[in-house]
Amino acid sequence: MRVSLRLKWMAAHLLVGSLVLLFFVLFLGSQLEGYFEERFENRWKRELELAREFVEAGGEDLRTPVAADRWADRVGDLLGMRFTLMDSAGRVIGDSEVDLSRLQEVENHSDRPEVIEALATGFGKSRRYSTTVGFDLFYLAAPIGSPGGLGGIIRAAVPSSEIDESLSEIKRLIWLATGFGFALVLIAGYATSASLTERVKQMAVTAKLFAQGDFSNRVASGADDEISDLGKALNQMGDDLQRSLVQITQERDQLQTILDGMVEGVMVTDRSGNIVLTNNSFEQIFQVSGDGDLEASSLFRDPDLLEALICASRQSIDTVVSLELSNPVRKALKAHVATLGPADEPVGAVAVFHDTTELQHLEKVRRDFVANVSHELRTPLTAIKGYVETLLDASAIEAEQKNTFLNKVLRHADRMAKLVDDLLNLSKLESFGPETELEQFDLTNVCLRVAENFSGLFRTSNLELKLNLPDAPVLVQGVHAEVESALNNLIENAVKYGGEGENVTVSLADLDDHVQVSIVDQGPGIPVDHQPRIFERFYRVDRGRSRELGGTGLGLSIVKHIVQRHGGRIWVESNLGQGAAFHFTLPRVLNAQAPSGNQ
Ligand code: ADP
Repeated sequence: MRVSLRLKWMAAHLLVGSLVLLFFVLFLGSQLEGYFEERFENRWKRELELAREFVEAGGEDLRTPVAADRWADRVGDLLGMRFTLMDSAGRVIGDSEVDLSRLQEVENHSDRPEVIEALATGFGKSRRYSTTVGFDLFYLAAPIGSPGGLGGIIRAAVPSSEIDESLSEIKRLIWLATGFGFALVLIAGYATSASLTERVKQMAVTAKLFAQGDFSNRVASGADDEISDLGKALNQMGDDLQRSLVQITQERDQLQTILDGMVEGVMVTDRSGNIVLTNNSFEQIFQVSGDGDLEASSLFRDPDLLEALICASRQSIDTVVSLELSNPVRKALKAHVATLGPADEPVGAVAVFHDTTELQHLEKVRRDFVANVSHELRTPLTAIKGYVETLLDASAIEAEQKNTFLNKVLRHADRMAKLVDDLLNLSKLESFGPETELEQFDLTNVCLRVAENFSGLFRTSNLELKLNLPDAPVLVQGVHAEVESALNNLIENAVKYGGEGENVTVSLADLDDHVQVSIVDQGPGIPVDHQPRIFERFYRVDRGRSRELGGTGLGLSIVKHIVQRHGGRIWVESNLGQGAAFHFTLPRVLNAQAPSGNQ
């Protein structure tokens, strides 16, 4: 059962107050009783003494019972007490409360305790019930040297209720004072417990808020005592905790910012395999949100990775695991799984996921490229070697045949030279840096120039070159020679592969913020399934025909690089047997200041 602090405090006050007051009442009561009895007794004793001296002095003639009784009546009247005179044998000779006529009937008093004591010690007292008067009396007796010339005893009797009444009045007052004191103790207890419990309650509320993570509350400073010391300590603790919390939050945010800035996916698990921390990259790679509770085993199916996490978090063994994801896109990953915490007591594992998809792709591209280059070079080299060997061996070769062979060697050497030139071009374009000097030039002008250069080829190929150019200059910014070479390449292809048609059209459309150049031929076109790949290096629709026509398979790849690094886009539209249309865009120079580079 819960007993409130206030109740306990009140109960303690009540107990202590009760004990103190009880002690006070009992002690004081008994002390006062003794004191009052003594005071009354002394007074009555003095009055008895006075009466005795008066009798002994012989102020009254007490030798006759009439005189003795009268004397007793008078003194009793004056002092308000009962007085009895006895002779030395204890016979009553006068009594203020008994008529003279009845004195003979009063029994002998010699056996009364006060009389016996008075005769023995000179003074006697006794308190008892009086059969004569019918209530408790307090008796005092003293021997008289000469009551009327005779030895005897004088006795005074007072109703003991006189003492009791005074005492009970005093006791009533004591009880009243005690009750008042008790009420005061209760009120004081209630008042002090109210302020005390209020302060303790305030501290309890503050401590509870601290426990819930709210460190803003503070205990009000009250009186300077132990409770206020406790309050100050609590406030100090609140300050420290708040400071620590801010610091921890800052450090956590800092860590999260660093983690989120990483390209690699990071995941931290506890010893039970629950994921406790992830970064943005991890959430993107695995398509999960970092909010919910997640177990590593429910997220990953790869047994090697799960095994690595267990090994790291329980046996402090670091591992590197390769894994593949197929959903939502295919991804190759390499995970470095390491132990978190001290090696002898690991607290979990940290896994860093590197996306190696691009790396693997690049590696494949590099391998393909080397294989393609080797292959492209090997064909002419083998041919050249064959012809040269034949020429060396057969001395009897006719001069005409020799010439044919040498021409073939030359053609293959040219092809190799073109291949090397294209490769160098490509490599130059791929290492495009900010140091490349850009210029503004008129694209219409470039088209006209290229068309003029191709006029001879068009004539010999029986083709007509149609130009569809705007009248006004169209300014673009970039490397003039590269844009011209891209245009050359596309027109050359149109002539090479579209020779069956009647014409090739070069048009320039001036659009809002960019220009679009289109080279359209009437050749056989490009099959749809080849179209997405023709911009790849060494990709040809018809390898044999391309070689025959002196192609290297690098032309469109070079054009694509040039367009893209100028901020443009290139694409092809073609229906089999209906020619091909190559389009590329370049950003237009808006608000041109001073056009240059028109050559
Ligand atoms: P190549 O040196 O073989 O011409 P390109 O990169 O310039 O290399 O072209 C790649 C391939 O695209 C060519 O081999 C050819 O098959 C196809 N191609 C390019 N232009 C055209 C076109 N105008 N018409 C049909 N096919 C084309």
